[in-house]
Amino acid sequence: MTRVETYPTLAEAARALGEAAYMAGGTLVMRDVNAGTAPPRLVRAADPELTAISAAGDSIRLGAGVTMAQILARPELDFLHEAARRIGGPQIRNMATVGGNLFAPHPYGDLAVALIALGGRAILAGQGTRPVEQIVRERERPPLVAAIEIARPRPGAFGFAKVARVKPKGASVLALAVLAPREGSTLRGVRVALGAMGDHPLRSAGAERALEGRPFDAEAIARAARQVAEGLDPPTDSLATGWYRREVAGVHLARLLESLRGGRA
Ligand SMILES: Cc1cc2nc3c(=O)[nH]c(=O)nc-3n(C[C@H](O)[C@H](O)[C@H](O)COP(=O)(O)OP(=O)(O)OC[C@H]3O[C@@H](n4cnc5c(N)ncnc54)[C@H](O)[C@@H]3O)c2cc1C
Repeated sequence: MTRVETYPTLAEAARALGEAAYMAGGTLVMRDVNAGTAPPRLVRAADPELTAISAAGDSIRLGAGVTMAQILARPELDFLHEAARRIGGPQIRNMATVGGNLFAPHPYGDLAVALIALGGRAILAGQGTRPVEQIVRERERPPLVAAIEIARPRPGAFGFAKVARVKPKGASVLALAVLAPREGSTLRGVRVALGAMGDHPLRSAGAERALEGRPFDAEAIARAARQVAEGLDPPTDSLATGWYRREVAGVHLARLLESLRGGRA
């Protein structure tokens, strides 16, 4: 038997959490409830701050309880639309939240991939801020996230791609996101994030090294494609083997980089 406790603020939910699990949209937590594997207590917060979006300027804040459908309803968040649109079907997108996506197990976490490439920071309930790429590793005992902050990318500097066997709503064989800002003809501040290439979304040090400080040309793209899976050990599951993921990651990264270089992303 699982008991659900709903608190008016995130601070109160944080105090009540203890050994309970936090539930946001519940698209994953409710599966555990149905399977009888959920903890006896689930904690929720009805805090309006959780569903607030501030996206007027270049500094963007998404409450952790913002859903994929809410993101898709905001034209000023268009750079996140491809990632949000590729998450589940319409019913899932109506419930699935930003915060839940950070801790969704492999092969999920498509939006988290985009947030990592964008250099997102997680604002924690009463415990400061941390880079998204760090907190996604904390699946066992996730810190309670209040919101995510990201900087709006310059037009044409950011792209996301998802490779799935079932379109439009299959889970990821692979997800990729690239932030490729340019200073003149040189790439500066490149971030390449990958989903389904490890236990959690992560950055590709090999691809970033191949691109950073170089002209955005065919040679740099080919080098990034060769190095993208360097040091990574992708999981094998019913969608793809780890070997296959390693083999195709470079092809898809090269396509995404070419589309950014040509201004088509
Ligand atoms: C049919 C189906 C299809 C799906 N397709 C996709 C897909 O294509 N891509 C994809 O990425 N995901 C997919 N998912 C997984 C899931 O729906 C999403 O990842 C979603 O964003 C999870 O959010 P949620 O609010 O439902 O999380 P919940 O189920 O509420 O929680 C998931 C986990 O996150 C933790 N959590 C939630 N919010 C917070 C917070 N604010 N702070 C700390 N911890 C928190 C919970 O404690 C729990 O451990 C799919 C799920 C289903 C059932």
